[in-house]
Amino acid sequence: MKQAENRKSARPPRHLRKARTAGTVATGAMTAVWLMLQGTIGGLPSSAQSANRNELSYSELLQKMNAGEVTRVELDPARGVAQVQLKGESQQNARHEVTLFAGDRNPELIEAARKNNVELDVQRSPDGSAIAWLIMHGLLVFVLIMVLLTVIRRTTNASGQAMNFGKSRARFQMEAKTGVLFDDVAGIEEAKEELQEVVTFLKKPERFTAIGAKIPKGVLLVGPPGTGKTLLAKAIAGEAGVPFFSISGSEFVEMFVGVGASRVRDLFKKAKENAPCIIFIDEIDAVGRQRGAGIGGGNDEREQTLNQLLTEMDGFEGNTGIIIIAATNRPDVLDSALLRPGRFDRQVMVDLPGLKGRLGILEVHARNKKLDPDISLEAIARRTPGFSGAELANMLNEAAILTARRRKDAITMLEVNDAIDRVSIGAAMAPLLDSKGKRIIAYHEIGHALLMTLLPHADPLDKVTIIPRSGGIGGFAKPIPDEDDFGLESRAELMDMITVFLGGRAAEEEVFGQDEVTQGAQSDIRAVANYARRMVTRYGMSSLGSFALETTGHEVFLGRDLMTQSSEYSEQMATQIDRQIRSIAMHCHAEACRIMRDNRDLMDRLVDLLLEQETIDGEEFRQIVAEYTTLPEKKLVTHQLAES
Ligand code: ADP
Ligand code: MG
Ligand code: ZN
Repeated sequence: MKQAENRKSARPPRHLRKARTAGTVATGAMTAVWLMLQGTIGGLPSSAQSANRNELSYSELLQKMNAGEVTRVELDPARGVAQVQLKGESQQNARHEVTLFAGDRNPELIEAARKNNVELDVQRSPDGSAIAWLIMHGLLVFVLIMVLLTVIRRTTNASGQAMNFGKSRARFQMEAKTGVLFDDVAGIEEAKEELQEVVTFLKKPERFTAIGAKIPKGVLLVGPPGTGKTLLAKAIAGEAGVPFFSISGSEFVEMFVGVGASRVRDLFKKAKENAPCIIFIDEIDAVGRQRGAGIGGGNDEREQTLNQLLTEMDGFEGNTGIIIIAATNRPDVLDSALLRPGRFDRQVMVDLPGLKGRLGILEVHARNKKLDPDISLEAIARRTPGFSGAELANMLNEAAILTARRRKDAITMLEVNDAIDRVSIGAAMAPLLDSKGKRIIAYHEIGHALLMTLLPHADPLDKVTIIPRSGGIGGFAKPIPDEDDFGLESRAELMDMITVFLGGRAAEEEVFGQDEVTQGAQSDIRAVANYARRMVTRYGMSSLGSFALETTGHEVFLGRDLMTQSSEYSEQMATQIDRQIRSIAMHCHAEACRIMRDNRDLMDRLVDLLLEQETIDGEEFRQIVAEYTTLPEKKLVTHQLAES
């Protein structure tokens, strides 16, 4: 409010008003400057102020001079006035101003002054005030121009930054030497062999070009996370001794449309300058998803980035010595244009390592660690099915940390086993205090463990424990998965697996009664439903017959259309499926309960032992069980060999 009034009263000159309309941001600042300068200018002598002084006329001055009343006259030729000091007046107080005749030299005045002995002076810098006024105005204009310029520059800068985003912040990394060799990568021998060829392309391209072979441009590494895709790409660069450019697919895509595309351009430009080299694009599915699909339509920025990538890949000749390696764990969602010949036409699977692979990876990562002589890497490999290379590396590191924490000199099997549990299940926490809850957990876990031991087709027990783990796990019974049958599961195996899952709840029911069962079986029950449904709808393992009712579900995924997922049965069939699933679960539950009931004494003894020592390993467990009943025939040989 106040500012508005000010502005009205102090209306700026014309050029200022123009400037104001030019930029609203500038307005405030300029008004302030203007007001400030107005204040200063107001302080300057001006004709308006001199009106207040007693003016004398020219003739009055001459009169007073002749009468001897004047002591001093100061001429100011520029303004055409004279300052007059009268007798008896101090210098500051009152000065009288006399307007002189313009252009005239005023000889009478000089004459009179000489005659009457009046001090006569001419001001050296004529009209100082006028010059000050000029300077002030010049300064004002200058300041305003500066303010305007900075404002303009700042606004253009902001937009300029957005435009230069991709350039000014290069997001790819370049490693001149990765220092990784094929020896550092284990367990994925097929992939290594395929990529060995790429190394030769980079090292001795003549060998291929001489006979007219085109060097491939792109290799797509496909596999779950942590299996060593990045490592493998680095190893190729390391083996070939070429620079390694890497960027993650997710780093291409930014808030601004066009940034990703410019990053792609930058990356390829840099790579061309450094050829031969490797460009590694991690998580390529982040940019390479099928265009124009998914929920909510396409993503302009992503598509532009992908198009730019395709253009760049087409743009360089096969023999320039740049090889692009991309990694993904979702090859199914990639745009088909990416997989065309001339782009990522080579696909290399990098799968989770098998037993031998895990052993190899453990050997690589054990190189720089101090292991106790009686540690068996093979035994560790056996105990870690489903572990990726990254998890194995992480596990060995955990074991090393545990060893240091326990102030031991070398890693022993104890630390390794703890590390395996820590990585696969969660960090161990302090044991529970004795309570009813702890007893319930003990019976629950013994229920699982007993079924693993007694059911002929279940995977044998590795260990059972009631040491709680982070993530709300009260205890667990862990089987040794059987890896030798290529993941094939028979109906009997699946039924036993479901029964094992139900064993925890069954034990609780048998011992504590229906009313006392806990929610601890929540995840078991979910797993049961999962397996039973698969048996009925996918594997054809029910009386509904041997035909698949559901295709292997693609998860609802942004890259794919929602509509491709549909059930292929009627509602009537759905009811029947539910009935079948229920009947499987009921059957297994009854079986689990029966075994609990028949082995109640054994169960009580195992629970007491578990409560006492918190953990029972598979071997000890089986020995105790064998005292009560005969153990079913199972493939335990390999495991026992590894353990001893
Ligand atoms: P991905 O890129 O497939 O997700 P990484 O290559 O990033 O996996 O692997 C992470 C780490 O795990 C590696 O740095 C390495 O220490 C370890 N690792 C993974 N796979 C292997 C392997 N096959 N051989 C040796 N180490 C591996
Ligand atoms: Mg990676
Ligand atoms: Zn359970």
